[in-house]
Amino acid sequence: MPFDLHIHSTYSDGTMTPAEIILLARKTGLQTIALTDHDTTEGIAEIMVQGKKHNIDVLAGIELSASFDSHPVHILGYGIDHTDPLLFENLKEIQKARNDRNDKIIARLQALGFDISLAELDMISKSGQTGRPHIARLLVKKGFVSSTEKAFDRYLGKKGSAYTPRKSLPADQAIKMINMAKGIAVLAHPVIINMTFQSLVQMVLKLQIAGLAGIEIYYPSHPPPFRFKLVKLCAEHGLLATGGSDFHGLLHPWSRLGCMDRGQSVSDEIVEKLKAHLPAARKTEG
Ligand code: AMP
Ligand code: MN
Ligand code: MN
Ligand code: MN
Repeated sequence: MPFDLHIHSTYSDGTMTPAEIILLARKTGLQTIALTDHDTTEGIAEIMVQGKKHNIDVLAGIELSASFDSHPVHILGYGIDHTDPLLFENLKEIQKARNDRNDKIIARLQALGFDISLAELDMISKSGQTGRPHIARLLVKKGFVSSTEKAFDRYLGKKGSAYTPRKSLPADQAIKMINMAKGIAVLAHPVIINMTFQSLVQMVLKLQIAGLAGIEIYYPSHPPPFRFKLVKLCAEHGLLATGGSDFHGLLHPWSRLGCMDRGQSVSDEIVEKLKAHLPAARKTEG
């Protein structure tokens, strides 16, 4: 049965609520989904309730923003215990660092002459994680730029005039955080990491020692030859292959719920293998 293991809701930078995602998953004919909001599990309880109501299997997930040798790297966590107190504490700390950075970005934008405020940012991002995508949306909403891409190019991206770095979480620590919350850690969308395939392999092998269990192979922007190389890498090193669309609702038109391989269907063996890796106690959660 079709599935999607990489989805964002309004609890991070997606535009749909967990309830809306479940309804869309039903309409699309998906059987299993994972909610993987950036650095927050706040939407998990709600999506699980909605999933049960509409007969969709839901895996508790997360997408942690981390780094490896100064490369931004995203680590997905599956089957995590979203009620784990240590995970909650760790995420609270990450959120605090994010909020401090948001304050600085807004102050820089104000210094550049823009009439925007933190209160307006809170209106754009009412719950869960708040980050640069929300600031970009605020700049568009107020008519200061015509698109979120332009907001990143001119102000928020690394070369932008309001760019502010964020304290980054080393990838091995992100993996440990997920493992300590009884979850499985998977490297998200390797195509987005700007490194050679050889360096990618070296990184994966180092992270595997730290507890990395898989790689997100099926992803909308992964070219087939890259995917084949990743399939081989996973087979050679006993890593799980996973897949997801990185659905953000109406935000990114290139990503549609359930579509992770340019419209082709991906074998649901992936979901079975992933579930087989989860500790017994976590399997009943869906
Ligand atoms: P943050 O976590 O606050 O640093 O924001 C990072 C997020 O911003 C990424 O996950 C992307 O969704 C988004 N993003 C990064 N660069 C761009 C860009 N050039 N255009 C649009 N969105 C971007
Ligand atoms: Mn995002
Ligand atoms: Mn990501
Ligand atoms: Mn994502």
